[in-house]
Amino acid sequence: MDIKEQMKEIMDASVTCDKCNHEFVIKEESIMKEKMEVKGLKFDLIYFYCPSCKKIYRASIQDRKYYLLVEELDKARKQVRDNFGTFDTTKANKLNKKLKKKSNALKNHVLEMNDKFSGEFAFFVDNKGNRTIEYIENDDIN
Ligand SMILES: [Zn+2]
Repeated sequence: MDIKEQMKEIMDASVTCDKCNHEFVIKEESIMKEKMEVKGLKFDLIYFYCPSCKKIYRASIQDRKYYLLVEELDKARKQVRDNFGTFDTTKANKLNKKLKKKSNALKNHVLEMNDKFSGEFAFFVDNKGNRTIEYIENDDIN
């Protein structure tokens, strides 16, 4: 599964920036990927940003475990597909259960990561003009 496939639901959607009220459409090329390391954790931040005020909107946080779970989910999906039409219902039930389990594991991991990184990601420009993304912890939540 590549990023484009994963981002299908948000692609071509019109969104209004909650910081500056600018309305913009999320295009394929709007989806960015940045390698990050925060709290000792390495992950890819998948995001898009408001073209007006540059506020970053996170699409997802993808760490090693995330990719592993996606891979396992894809594998389980393929097993279900391969078994389709064999009329082996016992196996079909087993595979469907497995698929559901893998799907839940991925969902839970995504929730966990969003929980862990409940703050905000924002652009920073250093004195050399390099643009980086920093994570800002949300102090309001305790
Ligand atoms: Zn904005």
